[in-house]
Amino acid sequence: MSMSNVLVTGGAGYIGSHCVRQLLGQGWRAVVLDDFSTGFKDLLISDEWVEGSTLDKRRVKQILRDYDISAVMHFAACAYVGESVENPEKYYENNVQGTLRLLSAMREEGVNQFIFSSSCATYGVPNQLPLTEDHPLNPVNPYGFTKRVVEQMLADFSVAYDLNYVSLRYFNAAGADPGGQLGECHDPETHLIPLILQVATGERENITVFGTDYDTKDGTCVRDYIHINDIGKAHLLALKYLQGGGTSDVFNIGTEVGNTVREVILACEKVTGKSITMVVGERRPGDPPALVASAEKIRRILKWEPEYTDLESIVETAWAWEQKRTQVLSETAG
Ligand code: UDP
Repeated sequence: MSMSNVLVTGGAGYIGSHCVRQLLGQGWRAVVLDDFSTGFKDLLISDEWVEGSTLDKRRVKQILRDYDISAVMHFAACAYVGESVENPEKYYENNVQGTLRLLSAMREEGVNQFIFSSSCATYGVPNQLPLTEDHPLNPVNPYGFTKRVVEQMLADFSVAYDLNYVSLRYFNAAGADPGGQLGECHDPETHLIPLILQVATGERENITVFGTDYDTKDGTCVRDYIHINDIGKAHLLALKYLQGGGTSDVFNIGTEVGNTVREVILACEKVTGKSITMVVGERRPGDPPALVASAEKIRRILKWEPEYTDLESIVETAWAWEQKRTQVLSETAG
C-alpha cells in the first residue's frame, strides 16, 4: 500500500492537529486546510498548510490538484452544541454546505477516499446503552443534525458516485498528546475537563455542574471520555482500511466506559492534587443523561484498541497540557 497525500481540513484544531501529528509520524504527507476561525497556528504540525474554507470549492479543487491528494480527513466544522441552537444557520452553512462543496470538489477531481468526523450527538437520547452504530439517529440539537445530514449525504454519494468513506462517531474527545506540543483549547472553552482543570490552575473559580438530578448513579450526566490519540489512531486505521479497498462504513470511537461529571471532578482532584470547587447548576438544554459507546465494531473491523482505558490517565495528559497551554498558544484564535 503506497503512502499517499492526505488533505486534513481543520488540521489546526484540537482533534485535527493530533491526527496530523500521527499521519506525519507514520510517514504520510498531510496538507492542512484551516480557516483559523477556531484553530490555532501554534497547533500546525505540518509545514504544508493553506488558510481557507471548504466552502471555497475552487480553492479546494486547486489544493487537491496541487498536492496530488488521494484522501481527505474532514475535521473542519463548528462544534458547539449551545451555539448551534442559537445560530443554526452558521452550523448548516459550515458543517453541511462546507462538506457538500468539499465532496463536490473531490468528485470533480477524482478523489474518492473520505474520513468524516462524526459524533455521538447523531444518536440523541439513547434507547439503550451501550450505543451501537445501528441505534436510530434522532439528534436533539442542530449540531447533531448537521452531522447526521452529512452522514446521509455520504451514504447517498457512495451509492451514486465513486466515493468510499468512513464516518467516525466520536464520543467525548479528551486529553492531550503526552509530548506536550498539542492539546485542547476552545475559545470560549465549554468542555468539562479543561474547565475543571482551569479551576485547578486558578484561572477559574469553580465548575458548574449542569444538573444533579439525572437518573444516573450519582445524579450527574454520564459520558464516555476517549483519549485524543486513540481517536487519531482510529483515523489512521480508517485511512489504511480505505486504501486497502475497505467498503464505506460507520464506527463509534469510545472506551465503552461511562463516567459521571462528579467522577470526572474527582479524577481531576486526584491528578492535580487540588480541591475543585463545584457549584450545582441547572441542566444544560440538549444534554442526554448518559452516552456510552459500544466500540465492538471498530475493534472487530478496524482492529482498533484504545491505549488509554482509564479516566485518570486521560486526565493526566490533559493536566500536563493545561499547565503549558498559555505558553504554547501565543497567538489567539482567528
Ligand atoms: N458539563 C458540566 N459543566 C460544564 C461543562 C460540561 O457539568 O461546565 C457536563 C455536561 O453537562 C456533560 C458533560 O459535562 O454532561 C460533558 O460536557 P462537554 O461539554 O465536555 O461535552 P459534550 O458531552 O457536551 O459533548
